[in-house]
Amino acid sequence: MKIAIMGAGAMGSLFGGLLALAEVEVTLVDIRKEHIDAIRSMGLTLEEKGKRQIIHVNATSDAALVGKVDLVIFFVKTYHTEKAASDALVFQKKDTVFLSLQNGLGNEEAICKQVDRKNVMLGVTNHGATLLGSGHIRHAGCGKTYVGELDGKMTDRATQIAQVFNKAGIETEISSNIHRLIWDKLFINVGLNAVAALTGLKNGQLLDYPETLRLMEALVSEAVEVARKKGIPIEGDPLEKIKAVVEATRENRCSMGQDIDNRRKTEIDSINGAVVREAERLKIRVPYNQMITDLIKVVERRV
Ligand code: NAD
Repeated sequence: MKIAIMGAGAMGSLFGGLLALAEVEVTLVDIRKEHIDAIRSMGLTLEEKGKRQIIHVNATSDAALVGKVDLVIFFVKTYHTEKAASDALVFQKKDTVFLSLQNGLGNEEAICKQVDRKNVMLGVTNHGATLLGSGHIRHAGCGKTYVGELDGKMTDRATQIAQVFNKAGIETEISSNIHRLIWDKLFINVGLNAVAALTGLKNGQLLDYPETLRLMEALVSEAVEVARKKGIPIEGDPLEKIKAVVEATRENRCSMGQDIDNRRKTEIDSINGAVVREAERLKIRVPYNQMITDLIKVVERRV
């Protein structure tokens, strides 16, 4: 299976590096030239539990050089998905699969604007990674990865993708309801990211204040109501799941927090902002999600 990864940041480089170690034919594609140049000249440095290894993996900033591939994996930030999907058309042959493993809502729609729906698949990954510098990442946490067809069918191509990922040590299962898993992860990001970003707290500290707990609960219960109205099945108690995640990642500053700290654009539009958009369509009021989206947007724009 020949693979191109669109977006060789923290997660793209992690998946690309692990696939390359398993001798899968994979190429990292990124518009950040200095990062690609570093990988090409010195290899990708992967740090994990205090150990470092150098991985030699194909990398380019010119997608046209890669040729046709069997699988395109999207690991750009969600606000870049549509452009990345358009850039990825050069990889396309009749049966190329376009797989998003990104967070949030809206990636499916952005990719389907460029590519026939029947070639699009979705996934969720519970791995975590951080970009430390050009050509240098840290594998911050492990967890399962799920891939699935939009219509929930168990297909040969889903099996093949899971097999290749598993061979690379990326523990992967096929899901017959990938949209449910995307919403499951969305609930966590909806309750955690913007609250941590605005308060400056680390994940675990969100449990220490009754005010942050109340905000998280309000944000998540609005998102759960939207999901229910959309017919997304809900398993377990999403608020309890968030509490478990922030406890397990107590010392982490979440990705939106890091984006705000470093004055970068956030993925708010595909997290709380996406809940607001879905709620508008369904004529439900979600004032907490509306307010926190507005606050993040102001902080993103302030000088
Ligand atoms: P990142 O910012 O580290 O990497 C994104 C990369 O995409 C950047 O290097 C950027 O230059 C590149 N890019 C942008 N437009 C491009 C284009 N048109 N073509 C090629 N490359 C392009 O982001 P990340 O942390 O790796 O996250 C990627 C996605 O995965 C996000 O949706 C994020 O929410 C999700 N995710 C992240 C983690 C994590 O731990 N970092 C975990 C699970 C899911």
